[in-house]
Amino acid sequence: MASLILILGDQLTYNLPVLENATKTKDTILMAEVREEATYVKHHKKKIVFLFSAMRHFAKALREDNFNVSYIEYNDETNQGSLLGQVKHALAHGKFDNVKVTSPGEYRLLKSMQQWEHTLGVPVNIINDSRFLASPQEFSDWAHDRKQLRMEFFYREMRRKHGILMEDKNPIGGKWNYDSQNREPMPAGTNVPTHTQFEIDAITQDVIDLVENEFGDHFGDISPFHFAVTRNDALTVLSDFIEERLPHFGQYQDAMVEGKPWLYHSHIAFYLNCGLLSPKEAISAAESAYYAGTAPLNSVEGFIRQILGWREFVRGFYWHFMPGLKSDNYFNNDRSLPDFFWDGQTNMNCMRQCIKETQANAYAHHIQRLMVIGNFCLLTGLSPHEVQQWYLLVYADAYEWVELPNVAGMILYSDGGQLASKPYVASGSYINKMSNYCKNCGYQVSKKTGPKACPFNYLYWHFIDEQKEKLSGNPRMAMMYKTYARMKDENINAMKDSATIFLTKLSDNEEV
Ligand SMILES: Cc1cc2nc3c(=O)[nH]c(=O)nc-3n(C[C@H](O)[C@H](O)[C@H](O)COP(=O)(O)OP(=O)(O)OC[C@H]3O[C@@H](n4cnc5c(N)ncnc54)[C@H](O)[C@@H]3O)c2cc1C
Ligand code: SF4
Repeated sequence: MASLILILGDQLTYNLPVLENATKTKDTILMAEVREEATYVKHHKKKIVFLFSAMRHFAKALREDNFNVSYIEYNDETNQGSLLGQVKHALAHGKFDNVKVTSPGEYRLLKSMQQWEHTLGVPVNIINDSRFLASPQEFSDWAHDRKQLRMEFFYREMRRKHGILMEDKNPIGGKWNYDSQNREPMPAGTNVPTHTQFEIDAITQDVIDLVENEFGDHFGDISPFHFAVTRNDALTVLSDFIEERLPHFGQYQDAMVEGKPWLYHSHIAFYLNCGLLSPKEAISAAESAYYAGTAPLNSVEGFIRQILGWREFVRGFYWHFMPGLKSDNYFNNDRSLPDFFWDGQTNMNCMRQCIKETQANAYAHHIQRLMVIGNFCLLTGLSPHEVQQWYLLVYADAYEWVELPNVAGMILYSDGGQLASKPYVASGSYINKMSNYCKNCGYQVSKKTGPKACPFNYLYWHFIDEQKEKLSGNPRMAMMYKTYARMKDENINAMKDSATIFLTKLSDNEEV
């Protein structure tokens, strides 16, 4: 029996049943840089360079390991432009008894693959992706009889099940969550360690030339390119993080600093999501640092919660709520994305910094995505569809299974509260507390209304006012609605007036 084994661009690891059970003498591995996947949204140029280069390096490693690999480059004459076309072409030119593929991370692609057997006329085995710590079925079993799905409870079950940071049946240190210690702004002048950087090799240079020629109209900068594109280099990123940044990760997890995009974060989502690193090894590296006494519990627990908790939770959530999650629109928002989302040209310094860093790096850290850009998207009522597309294409770690729950559930509340217990909205004072952006802004964070006032201030109260029917009954919004009820009508009206002026300018794409 000879199998055609299809490996997708986010499955770059030996730890997949399709490869573990492959017969090197008979089976062929098919990998392809197809136009359909690279362009169905116009991905950031750096993301395409990263993924095509990582794919080419992985194919080279497989060949060196005596696998029979058919690798179709973007400009190869035999490139069929789509995954199905490529599989058809391989079947027509070789002798295969079946096709094997690991279940993809996207609903659209899974649904299409489930029809392939019918189209191709050979058995197509879609095999579960074994890289996660919870399967979609396990999440659905956990979710099915619960009124509310809260990450914290899912996370505790995962800690117990996998025995991570546990002492018998109790969490180490006596608490499950140390977030109260993890909300410090960065003191001015802190010397943050640099992020790990790698030289561009000949394979990556070829891909850079290709992307410059073929994807010139896509968003973002290619240069400087410092990402890891091999497993060994991704392991170096992980070990540098554990040694140099994990000790302060928790403390400064929510901090934002102008001109410093990387801070104490791990920068490993790129590699976890395409297979160069596994979540289990990242979790155990952090856990070992705690036991070795080189990183404190608030940092280690905080980091592990992001991977064992949030990452697994959003993946389960995605498969549980698709396809509805993609079209949910609880607040019926439909404002188009303003042009400055593509070039950062705005007087709001926080938005300018976060968008420009996204453009340069295909990266922004969590609080920038959530409490600056995401906060703005919800407060201004931007269309969920357009916001989803934007987040999916601008970040090099973005795939629909992880982007969509974060966008629809976490920032836009467009799922009506299935993921988050309340909308993540804040006024300018939160951004001012956690960053130094407000110092260099065209607006004043201390002003509540009028042309010089920070837009987040009046947009926040405008949102609270507009959505009172949908939100005032939410116990977690009670404080905000109590404050709102105490506000004088003239103040509420002044906020609403300022918001209306701003939102009109936004809709007309005038400078804001
Ligand atoms: C609107 C929005 C969109 C996002 N889109 C993506 C996305 O497309 N891809 C993606 O991997 N993450 C996404 N995230 C989650 C998070 O922002 C990124 O994982 C993180 O910024 C990646 O940088 P890092 O590796 O330095 O993470 P760190 O801050 O060092 O965190 C460690 C790891 O935890 C995991 N993690 C942390 N938070 C989340 C979360 N909310 N959901 C899933 N995993 C999490 C990631 O794997 C990350 O690498 C999004 C968050 C928001 C608010
Ligand atoms: S004043 Fe407002 S708009 Fe300006 S940086 Fe601060 S929070 Fe952002």
